[in-house]
Amino acid sequence: MNDDQAASPRLLELCRRFLKSFGQTVKLVSLYSAGHPVPASSQRESWQLLHELFTESGWDEISFSLVAGRWLANGQLVADSAQAYELLAIAFRCHALQSVTFLPDCKLYELSALCELASTPANRAYETDASDFLKERGVRHIEANLESFVRARRVRPLASTAVQSQRATLLKPPVPVAQTSAPAAPRQPPQQSPQRPQAPTQVSVGFGSFIKSIVERAVVDPQERARIYAEAVRHIETALAQHVSQATHKLLLEKQGVVNERLRTENVLATVTEGKMVVDQEGRILMMDQAAEDLIGRPFSDVAGKNILEKLHGDDQFVALAKDLVIPENRPISDEVRTSGGVQTLSAFRQSMALVHDEQGRVVGTYAVLPHAAKYRETQRMQEEFLANITHDLKAPLTSICSALEVLSEKLGAHIDNEEGEFLDICVRNSRTLRQMIDELLDFSKLQSGRMSVRPERQPLEPLLRECVRALLPWARSKKIDLRLDGAESMAELPQVLADRGRVLQILNNLVSNAIKFTPEGGRVCLSAERGQRDNDAVVVRVKDTGCGISPSDQKLIFDRFSQVQSERRGGVGLGLAIARELVLQHRGRVWVDSEEGHGSTFSFTLPVAADDKAGDDAAQ
Ligand code: ADP
Repeated sequence: MNDDQAASPRLLELCRRFLKSFGQTVKLVSLYSAGHPVPASSQRESWQLLHELFTESGWDEISFSLVAGRWLANGQLVADSAQAYELLAIAFRCHALQSVTFLPDCKLYELSALCELASTPANRAYETDASDFLKERGVRHIEANLESFVRARRVRPLASTAVQSQRATLLKPPVPVAQTSAPAAPRQPPQQSPQRPQAPTQVSVGFGSFIKSIVERAVVDPQERARIYAEAVRHIETALAQHVSQATHKLLLEKQGVVNERLRTENVLATVTEGKMVVDQEGRILMMDQAAEDLIGRPFSDVAGKNILEKLHGDDQFVALAKDLVIPENRPISDEVRTSGGVQTLSAFRQSMALVHDEQGRVVGTYAVLPHAAKYRETQRMQEEFLANITHDLKAPLTSICSALEVLSEKLGAHIDNEEGEFLDICVRNSRTLRQMIDELLDFSKLQSGRMSVRPERQPLEPLLRECVRALLPWARSKKIDLRLDGAESMAELPQVLADRGRVLQILNNLVSNAIKFTPEGGRVCLSAERGQRDNDAVVVRVKDTGCGISPSDQKLIFDRFSQVQSERRGGVGLGLAIARELVLQHRGRVWVDSEEGHGSTFSFTLPVAADDKAGDDAAQ
């Protein structure tokens, strides 16, 4: 491109994107090591943009220069100084770069070398000669053009070896310089660059040559001349080093202050939280750790890619997210924070937490009391953990006691008198009850932790109902209760259901044994099943008793864990119905109770009709 030829807006936009991407890469390289995947991918992106730029423009070189705080590409204004290019601008100043020229076919490693150069800490940058640095790394398609003393007319941090290299650089006439920089540079006879002998428009002389010419004019003796020249250079270098460190000191302090402040807030937050989630610029979930999974109650695979502001789970969660997920370059950051989730949870959380500020109003800590929901959850978690451990530990000794008592009762039955036999029976019965309670507790803790799985299979319901009646008949008889299966004749017409045999038997056993437990002698317990009236795709199973019944207020509680509402305790731990409900839910069914105090209860639950049977029914209709 000739300087007088304006680049298209598209090309200028590409230049801007490249600068921005490269500026970002330099920032990343200064944060991470150069080989780290984060800056590496950013480097690749910048490199691709550079190639795109060459392909679209057809230019034989692209020269980026920083003049009076503005970025130029081949002499055309691309961008004003902005935050995104700040580090790049600092690098330009520290290395006394007037411009950086890229040639077509620039390799990725060459761009990496430039990144490395640009990210050299400011206090070391003035020791590094940019051209030598690139040359040593085999860079042939990027040229670092040093700012010349003559041209700038002001003291700049200049690389020490740059003084010796005395490179006169071909400079394009950067348009804004003519308007903005101090008095025009004295014109020098054009010198040819060895690399690109195109017609130069302006030539400047290196700082080293300038000093040398003064010394040559002032001192005649060649040896003395060399000594004075070396001395002058040394003095200037020291002065420049001081100047650079003074100029950058304030900047470094400011930067450190900002970094420290950010770190302090992050440390406070990191200490009071456990899980970690990563979102993209739109707020979509990219990563989360185990603790965050536990918090949400769902695996990462369930929520990956979903917007974090979408309601994640239940009313007991809320999300607060900054509106500006990307730091804007052209305006102050918005103080808006978007929230979503349970309003009450948010208010409970707010009421239970206070931020601690310093005198300047900066966040330095938090003060918190446990919100009720968190307290409740924590207690629940401890209770479940305790249950899981204690039941597991009790199960083994209890099983051996039960077996030993059963063997004793069998073997000694004939040799002991009635009273002793009765004692032994009581022992056997009670140990069985205890084992059943432990089993319930274990089942419950398995259900809670998701370790109990239900595998429904297509099967007829009747055999399950019969098996339950058969197992509990001896107990019912011992209490003179009439336990029976109602409507056995019409059972064969029922469609098959999707049921996990073992688990459905467990549900039935829980309901029927409760019915026997809470029905007085001479009462009746009936099991029946029918096609759902309301829900035709389900079969309803009922357990009806003539027992004590349950008050309406108690009916609301009995499916909760550990709830026993009868004043008189009759064994059990208050988990049977909670387990039954969980198992029914896992079968995609419902469970409920109809009861009237003093007039018995009917517990009902549904099981889904198996798909083939549904199809068969539909065809028959
Ligand atoms: P438990 O193991 O203590 O029986 P459940 O969860 O099975 O625990 O039952 C919870 C409570 O519901 C029982 O303690 C009892 O008060 C009430 N209940 C359950 N089934 C019946 C019933 N058929 N008749 C009357 N009350 C019942």
